[in-house]
Amino acid sequence: MLITHDTRCALDTVVDLVNTAPEDNATPDGLPDVAALEDFVQNHEISDVGALSEFDLSAVRKIRGRFASVFAAPDARTAAGVINDLVAAAGTTPRLTDHDGYDWHVHYFAPGASVADHLAADCGMALAFFVVAGEQERLRRCEAPDCRRAFVDLSRNRSRRYCDSRTCGNRLHVAAYRARRKEAAG
Ligand SMILES: [Zn+2]
Ligand SMILES: [Zn+2]
Repeated sequence: MLITHDTRCALDTVVDLVNTAPEDNATPDGLPDVAALEDFVQNHEISDVGALSEFDLSAVRKIRGRFASVFAAPDARTAAGVINDLVAAAGTTPRLTDHDGYDWHVHYFAPGASVADHLAADCGMALAFFVVAGEQERLRRCEAPDCRRAFVDLSRNRSRRYCDSRTCGNRLHVAAYRARRKEAAG
């Protein structure tokens, strides 16, 4: 599966966006205010979005919830339905570009699009390619019991089960190792 530079960036962005959502009532929102959204836009080099407002914040939180359901989708048809809605609502203007020395690739967001529409168009299309490639199951949620963060499994045999943001795989290995030792000692 060919993953271009921009698709990769869009994937990183959408995973980070989904993971700003609070996991439960006890965790704070990763996008609590407009300033946090400004940081997010800057860190992910989302261009041409202009000044941000409370309206942008609530719009981004709304699509964040939609993107989260793509990562939780049980099958490609469910994911496709959500992605179609997101991309259609954003409106797209596909155009070829080779900005900043990158190879030719396609930008989807319309000129002057709001940050939410920009994200819905470009991240939505990045996820769409996974469905087209028959790789929707690579869009996953971490299987560690107290985590459930979103990630994209880019491993060759689609074998990744845990996110790396909190070293979930490691924690589970340690827990299993301790359990085995306890069993051996008991
Ligand atoms: Zn680009
Ligand atoms: Zn995890």
